[in-house]
Amino acid sequence: MWESDAAKAAEYATAKIAVWWDMKDCPIPEGYDAGRVRPSIEAAFKKLGYSGPVSITAYGDLIQTPNRLLRGLSSTGVAVAHTVSRCICSRMFTDMLEWRGQNPAPGSMMIISNQVAYVFSWDLIRLQQHTKYNIFVAYSVNSEYSSTLRTCKEWRWKRLLEEYYKQPDDTIIQYYKRSETGAMFHCKTCSFHSQSLEIFRKHLASKNHALEEIINPGYAQLASVTKKWGKNYAAKAEHAAAKIAVWWDMMDCPIPEGYDARQVRPSMEAAFKSLGYSGPVSITAYGDFKQTPDHLLRALSSTGVSVGHTVSEVIYKRMFSDFIEWRGNNPPPATMMVISNHVEEVLADDLAGLQQGSKYNIFLAYSYRPYKMSVLVTSAEWLLDSLLAVLEQTKHLLRKCSETGESSGIFNCTLCFCDLKSLDDFRKHLSSEEHAEEEGYIYDLIEDNLSERKLEIESKVFPKSKRLRKAFRSSS
Ligand SMILES: [Zn+2]
Ligand SMILES: [Zn+2]
Repeated sequence: MWESDAAKAAEYATAKIAVWWDMKDCPIPEGYDAGRVRPSIEAAFKKLGYSGPVSITAYGDLIQTPNRLLRGLSSTGVAVAHTVSRCICSRMFTDMLEWRGQNPAPGSMMIISNQVAYVFSWDLIRLQQHTKYNIFVAYSVNSEYSSTLRTCKEWRWKRLLEEYYKQPDDTIIQYYKRSETGAMFHCKTCSFHSQSLEIFRKHLASKNHALEEIINPGYAQLASVTKKWGKNYAAKAEHAAAKIAVWWDMMDCPIPEGYDARQVRPSMEAAFKSLGYSGPVSITAYGDFKQTPDHLLRALSSTGVSVGHTVSEVIYKRMFSDFIEWRGNNPPPATMMVISNHVEEVLADDLAGLQQGSKYNIFLAYSYRPYKMSVLVTSAEWLLDSLLAVLEQTKHLLRKCSETGESSGIFNCTLCFCDLKSLDDFRKHLSSEEHAEEEGYIYDLIEDNLSERKLEIESKVFPKSKRLRKAFRSSS
């Protein structure tokens, strides 16, 4: 769970709150009055400073649900939606999408379900990088898989319901008086709606409904909208002249064979310009440069590409801490670009987490196409080969770029955290004793962490085998 940074913002305090509640995952506890669900939820929100109007829809297979329970919900203004069990998540998600479409932010979304991390999170994280709402979650079983979906607050469902008992009893009577109308019974399978429980019951017992449930029960899969967000978009006005910072994993995505390193910057600039981006571009290339030929480093540096020496074991850590530092110094609007084949495995979750806080425009490039769409929302992606080929198609543009790009890039050792002005100084540093010591220290640290982790796992898997642990210690 993330800090509730936005929760305090005044605009959210009175904004709409929409609640989607999976009654199969989070049922009403035995003996609990259904009429108390809404007041409990509202009390929980009020405690956090939210007093906007709350709409609640409860989803479930309602054929067996007692009338007393449905009446308790509807009399307190909770809409009730019948759906076959396996389609609950997709029905909820479709309604969430519709709500987001009709209710521009600010607003708060609450999901009561155990499926947030497994089923909703990928799409929701992507949606949240586009348009941010406050997200609240309640669950009865905590997911072992932690999601990078930024939430303002997560509750245990039963604990949340118990909160209400602290409230005075007369509030519930007000609800019963207030909401004679408005609440609805829906059959999601047939798109049938009624305000009367009797008519709704009749519908659920009808032959038409039974047939529809067999022929056309709905899809279990979520109707993802964000999967369509996979093309290169033209620059939005606020990004057209904004800074572009490029972090390039050269270990993973080296310069293609036969390609002149001096063309890298002008090629990228041409590719950005073709989408309408003309802001200043800074590029840092990360790699183990001990064996890299001088002419290549000189070519990069002479076109203003900075070079950051690192080792493969810590390259992504260094890149990520550089992202954080850069974001701290460069508030949006600005563009971040990552060139790497391992964004999805090592960087995407953390970056998508940050993007739900402050939003930057994101570009990606890789030397081969990823096997699935990233959780990180991007506005342009390239294969490195085709990105570098842009130059060939726009040579006249390129000459102009390279003429202006005379400023030279910095040489940096990301292991020792030092900047070096010339290639000679960089070479001297990489072969120095001081650097060798630092590199050795980093490898020791990695090894120590690994042994510690092994011990930790071992003590979990073999809790009583002290002998084994001792043996492991003495061998490491
Ligand atoms: Zn029906
Ligand atoms: Zn160093």
